[in-house]
Amino acid sequence: MNNANFTAAALVPQILEGSVRATDVLDTVFATIREQEPRVHAFLQVTEDLARSQAEQVDRKIAEGKPVGPLAGIPIGIKDNLCVRGGRTTCASRILEPFVAPYDATVISRLRAADAVFVGKTNLDEFAMGSSTENSGFGATRNPIDLERVPGGSSGGSAAAIAAGMCVLALGSDTGGSIRQPASFCGIVGLKPTYSRVSRFGLVAFASSLDQIGPMAHTVRDAAMLLNVIAGADANDSTCSPDPVPNYVEGLEDGVRGLRLGVPREYFGEGLAPDIKSGLEKVIHRMEREGAELVDISLPHAPYAIGTYYLIATSEASANLARYDGVKYGFRAKDVKNLGEMYRRTRSEGFGPEVKRRILLGTYALSSGYYDQFYVKAQKVRTLISQDFESAFAKVDAILTPTTPDTAFKLGEKTSDPLQMYLVDIYTVSANLAGIPGISVPAGRDRSGLPFGMQVLGPKFGEPVVLRVARAVEMLRPGEAS
Ligand code: GLN
Repeated sequence: MNNANFTAAALVPQILEGSVRATDVLDTVFATIREQEPRVHAFLQVTEDLARSQAEQVDRKIAEGKPVGPLAGIPIGIKDNLCVRGGRTTCASRILEPFVAPYDATVISRLRAADAVFVGKTNLDEFAMGSSTENSGFGATRNPIDLERVPGGSSGGSAAAIAAGMCVLALGSDTGGSIRQPASFCGIVGLKPTYSRVSRFGLVAFASSLDQIGPMAHTVRDAAMLLNVIAGADANDSTCSPDPVPNYVEGLEDGVRGLRLGVPREYFGEGLAPDIKSGLEKVIHRMEREGAELVDISLPHAPYAIGTYYLIATSEASANLARYDGVKYGFRAKDVKNLGEMYRRTRSEGFGPEVKRRILLGTYALSSGYYDQFYVKAQKVRTLISQDFESAFAKVDAILTPTTPDTAFKLGEKTSDPLQMYLVDIYTVSANLAGIPGISVPAGRDRSGLPFGMQVLGPKFGEPVVLRVARAVEMLRPGEAS
């Protein structure tokens, strides 16, 4: 078993016919974990006993001729802001360190029903706030491609675990780019679905109007297989769409002939690293040679996306994180004299500096006197950003952009300047503000050999076209050419 074949698409048929056992796949994964994890630190918790019993159950069902689910025996990493019943769910925060989830997130119950194997809970920036996984309360994750560099974030543990071969698939969450940006930095595929496509029940809330769970994988096909399992209506999440779920694997190989692909000029200007710009232009021209029609488009409100995102995300976070006060969840400060002191000390001792900064920013933006000036204004700009996309998708089927302005940066490089860290999200946050799907697919390497992704955006519920275009990019193998 080598890593090139280490995909769900290759393994599931072999597991079904009995030529490979789920427990063999798991042995390979754990051998890699023992070798890589001490260097990479992708996991907050490795659930070897659970994984082994799940893998044994798959092997037993197959030996007895019983039916198994579509991800039978596939090892998956789970971002540690998703609840898995009976296990710790920390959000990489000291404040939730002792918290044990009393129920399964909907995506987790669906993965159990699909017979996936849970390898462990992956590291993240505390409460998913960050772009490097350095904001974890339990130590940073390193990029397996270059251990001096960050894997991106906030789903950095999930991306690094896949890139290092420590799992085959992973779940991430994306509020402003947290699936797509680490996918780009680690040379894998990451998809943020349309807002409402995947139930958020059991995902610890950061910014509820932006959060979305999505698949991370080595290949576009694997991402589609995972989306097939997790997407769809859920009685436990009233914001989850009741629309039927298509089979996302169908039509993947249809190519780009006849598709109109928009190239927004705002995304290829100043601030984009030259190697990424030239690499993406090459891929885009090859798309044209394959029969796509390239359309020069404009998304005029793009320059306001970062400011708008950081107002809305922090406002919602300040409300969502109010519940961590020592009363009901997780950590409570010791030796307190009264209720006020308990709240104050629990929150001061439990939250890390970035989370505190965001709670303060959000509380400020929502406070009377500033509410209209900041929060309401940001909501208006959010509408303009959505309208930009609506007019663009009247002319094109999908939009091609960079995922990130640069490749993976060094650990510590941006930790002292939060604004520099926020700017990493410049190309990803608009999709969350507009609620549209976006994928990052490997599209090349810079002169130091570091990978970068192409982002493909589609209209709401346009996952099929987004996956199809990403698959066409993947077919060119742009990340492998020297
Ligand atoms: N990097 C962005 C932030 O810090 C996005 C995080 C996310 O998508 N969870 O908010």
